[in-house]
Amino acid sequence: MSLYPKKGFKLVTIVSFIIVVSIVLTMIISIHSAYNVSKQSLVNNYLSGNYDRAMDLSATTGDLLERIQKSIHSMAEMWKRDGSIDQARLDDLYLTNSEYFNSLTVVRNDFTVTGVAPTSVNLKIGQTLDSDTSRAIVKARDDMVTNPFVGKTGNLVVLVTSPLFDKNNKYYGYIAGTIYLHESNMMQLVLQQDYDSDGSYVYAVDSKGNVIFHPDAAMIGKNIASNEAVWKVIAGLNGSVTYTDNNQVEYYAGYAYNMKSGWGIVSQTPASIINEPLNNLLQSSTLQSLPLLLITLAAGWVLTYLVVRPLHRLAEYSNKMLTEWNSGDLPPVRSATYEIKSLYNSLRITTRQLQTYINKLRNETALDGLTGLANRRNFDATLETWCLDTEPFALIMVDIDHFKRVNDTHGHLVGDRVIQFLASTMRNVSREGDLCFRYGGEELGILLRGCNVTRAYIVAERLRQLVSSTPGPSGQLITVSLGVVVFPEQGDSPNDLIAKADESLYTSKREGRNRTTVFSSEMMPDSYSGPSKH
Ligand code: GH3
Ligand code: MG
Ligand code: MG
Repeated sequence: MSLYPKKGFKLVTIVSFIIVVSIVLTMIISIHSAYNVSKQSLVNNYLSGNYDRAMDLSATTGDLLERIQKSIHSMAEMWKRDGSIDQARLDDLYLTNSEYFNSLTVVRNDFTVTGVAPTSVNLKIGQTLDSDTSRAIVKARDDMVTNPFVGKTGNLVVLVTSPLFDKNNKYYGYIAGTIYLHESNMMQLVLQQDYDSDGSYVYAVDSKGNVIFHPDAAMIGKNIASNEAVWKVIAGLNGSVTYTDNNQVEYYAGYAYNMKSGWGIVSQTPASIINEPLNNLLQSSTLQSLPLLLITLAAGWVLTYLVVRPLHRLAEYSNKMLTEWNSGDLPPVRSATYEIKSLYNSLRITTRQLQTYINKLRNETALDGLTGLANRRNFDATLETWCLDTEPFALIMVDIDHFKRVNDTHGHLVGDRVIQFLASTMRNVSREGDLCFRYGGEELGILLRGCNVTRAYIVAERLRQLVSSTPGPSGQLITVSLGVVVFPEQGDSPNDLIAKADESLYTSKREGRNRTTVFSSEMMPDSYSGPSKH
């Protein structure tokens, strides 16, 4: 199991994620701001378009009212000159001015109707017109444009009036041009416009916010002073505004106040008109940025991969190191990134140092410091392993004869070198697969793999003869005594084998040293007297 947690996100995943998030965010932000800028300019277009239209129509309406007022006024002058206007004349005046008003009425100062044209109008001569409006007109004795009101005819009307005086300036009453707001009238001619199916329309309100003209006839006469565009225009202002009406519909409106009449003209477009172009813009800009997004993503991923891959390999190597100390050499890592280069170098140096250190430690725990042969611990472990196997092997124990004398005569250092000399001679007689070891002091040994008793004896004898015939570091010949035991015939456990090899060795000592003794069953404690000799 790895000591390194496998949990956690890989760097390439994290960096890719960051790239994706930042690109997508950038895209959203830029599309959003493009959307806002376009929206603002569309809104401004509609606001200023509606404002211009309202101003134009307000001027036109003002001019028209002025013309109507003038024509009514000229009738009043006619009255002054002639002292009256008879029915035939009134019919004639109505016909020539019928484009301006729906009817003409003459009202005496006692509110009695004294003239009506056309006669088809639902108003009879002799009828009394004493409404508040009529009273106000009589009281004012001046040119007037009234607010809309429901007249005697049952129509919602606006009156354009002039006072009637005779030559002696005696007040007679008034003459009124009537505009029926619900019928075809001059307001419609001016304000009813055909706009390119964008839903824009124009309406007019009087000074109190009552609708005088509206393309939706049902609206005429209603008071809509609570609409922002309306209360602003009847306050005498010109301008444009985005507002929401009572039906929660949003409009871009332009409004213009007409000073002569006190009326307001509002031109407006429903805000929903810009949704379609904006949605199209949103779609097209998203589609346009998509290829760029994909290319940037791919490039970002490749770049990240190139930067992060060496780091990833280092991480994997370190991870492997934790489970197998000898994970081989650090794989070559090429990177232009300073941090990765530094990390690679320090990891490489640390790994090497660690491996050298571990090798040293390993030798120290397995090898004998003086001779370089396997140490006692190593020998014990090997013997134990070999005993578990069925393959035969031999154990030869070797002890230097009268070694104390060597030490006494030549000193310990020479004694050490004599031990080293014996070790190297042992190496020379052993084969690959055998294990030469130092058992302790000047007692050494060999484990011979796949070896029978005859070969073991031959090897032991060759060693004994080589040592006794080669002058050692002391300058004198030394001799060794040897004991041999074979697995599995003579012993099958480590302790048994060691005890029997020792026994054979001491038999050699007892018998006069410089000899090899192969273990035989007679050597065992109860039959010590007859060791086998060679
Ligand atoms: P024997 O023939 O009966 O073996 O006589 P011996 O003198 O060799 O006796 P023994 O084996 O009992 O003595 C071992 C001596 O070896 C005792 C000790 O001073 C010496 N010795 C043990 N280890 C070392 C070592 O590492 N270096 C040196 N120089 N001497 C050692
Ligand atoms: Mg000895
Ligand atoms: Mg000894």
